[in-house]
Amino acid sequence: MRKNLVAGNWKMNMTYQDGLALVSEITNMVADEVGGSGVEVVICPPFPFLHSIGKLLTAGGNIHLGAQNCHQKESGAFTGEVSAKMLQSVGVEYVILGHSERRQYFHEDNELLSQKLKAVLAAGLKPIFCVGESLETREADETFAYLEKQLKEGLFHLSNEEFDQVTIAYEPIWAIGTGKTATSQQAQEVHAFIREQIARAYDAEAALNTTILYGGSANAQNARELFSQPDVDGGLIGGAALKSRDFTEIIKSF
Ligand code: PEP
Repeated sequence: MRKNLVAGNWKMNMTYQDGLALVSEITNMVADEVGGSGVEVVICPPFPFLHSIGKLLTAGGNIHLGAQNCHQKESGAFTGEVSAKMLQSVGVEYVILGHSERRQYFHEDNELLSQKLKAVLAAGLKPIFCVGESLETREADETFAYLEKQLKEGLFHLSNEEFDQVTIAYEPIWAIGTGKTATSQQAQEVHAFIREQIARAYDAEAALNTTILYGGSANAQNARELFSQPDVDGGLIGGAALKSRDFTEIIKSF
């Protein structure tokens, strides 16, 4: 079911001690409001902190635990990797997949991401699947064709039941970590387009029920305007998720 959701992606930032302090600040600031507001909050710390932070979140209230990636296989000789089942066993609920940094620096393509999606769903976890175009693609006026391909190849192979579990994050690459946010009109235009594609691939109900987040330099100043767009259901937040006050303000923007 479609919901308002704010997810914080810490990326490869923070020590364990910094992370614990940040989470206690966030839970103290938002615990009461998150409970009553209907906004779902997800925090995605690095792997080594997941278990302890998950315990803090359970104790602190209605904030959920997410991971930033996982391997496509269930187990085996894959030194250094982490499976969806392992994540599930430490209390993770959400997994970010297809972030542009994973696509760019770790060469994750739609084929690999399809396998990761299956693994996440098989473990009973909920994927936050990222799509988004580069500046070059936008300037060449190819944004919609590019997104259509990402969605078709990466996501629309899922069954209706599987797709029900998916949250989509539209993250224009040119806006990630650059301080250059998409305008609310640009975000709305793409979110509406994504919803149309879902309706085509599945049906109108699936399109209406899918939560679609915006990500890319969202902050406490621009979140309200972005979240007020009819097809923007929340945000995937990078830099601003590392500061308790900024992240909390974003959550309160609904
Ligand atoms: C992200 O990495 O998902 C992101 C949106 O980062 P930032 O908010 O820093 O642009």
